[in-house]
Amino acid sequence: ELYNKVLELKGNIRVFCRCRPLNVDEIAAGASVAIDFESSNEGELTIKSNGAFRRNFKFDAVFGPQADQADVFEDTAPFATSVLDGYNVCIFAYGQTGTGKTYTMEGTKTDRGVNYRTLEELFHIIKERQQLFQYDISVSVLEVYNEQIRDLLVPGNQPGVPAKSIHCVMVKGENSLTGECTRSKLWLVDLAGSERIAKTEVQGERLKEAQNINRSLSALGDVISALATKSPHVPFRNSKLTHLLQDSLGGDSKALMFVQISPNENDLSETICSLNFASRVK
Ligand code: ADP
Ligand code: MG
Repeated sequence: ELYNKVLELKGNIRVFCRCRPLNVDEIAAGASVAIDFESSNEGELTIKSNGAFRRNFKFDAVFGPQADQADVFEDTAPFATSVLDGYNVCIFAYGQTGTGKTYTMEGTKTDRGVNYRTLEELFHIIKERQQLFQYDISVSVLEVYNEQIRDLLVPGNQPGVPAKSIHCVMVKGENSLTGECTRSKLWLVDLAGSERIAKTEVQGERLKEAQNINRSLSALGDVISALATKSPHVPFRNSKLTHLLQDSLGGDSKALMFVQISPNENDLSETICSLNFASRVK
């Protein structure tokens, strides 16, 4: 019974942590690594600093610098199946700029990320089930920019900020034998960078933009922790983003958050902020 309680408390949100490798510039500059992958167990991440400071974080999965896109997708694929089983699903990437949010979600032409692989998996399962189910899929690509939602598939609507898009896949399924129908949504979200405003030292339009990004992200944090603690009031209406994702975060839906981090010791304070944010889910 205790075990059931623990599972229940975890709610419907899973958290995967992914740490990018040091890049060539960091290696050239002799950057130190602040993550101890050697001593970490499965699903665990150990922060180390100057050999003295150590702290452990636990997640549903941890992907180190050696993990490739296929490794990450292996654990993500079940969410695609859930969409076709009628669940609303939301997959999003959170973290400081430059930690690999776009790499994980979008990927590159040669190293496709979660967006492409999830759609590929959807069509693969649809083909497997074609004797039994008839599926209808529609896709939108949205962007939340300065608390406004824009549909990027409408001609003339160019992205305000590159690579902060939200893909929404609507799925209608019909059982060919019983005529039973399911309707579900898949959200694939590449969030804006989570770094604190103080560090960016911006003014005017840029400041407004940064504040709105922050509003969406902190609203998302509040929603996630309200869901995780089964709070009776979940503040979905505090931002456009949480309002948009409302029916794919609460209730019977399944959400997956990638918390993206840098291994560089210089980024440690942002890394700890991101890991603390992600820990609110637990
Ligand atoms: P973000 O979207 O969080 O700002 P990016 O996805 O643009 O970060 O990643 C920054 C850079 O690091 C990109 O050049 C990207 O290709 C690279 N990168 C990120 N994660 C990885 C990874 N796991 N393996 C290899 N390169 C990565
Ligand atoms: Mg990006």
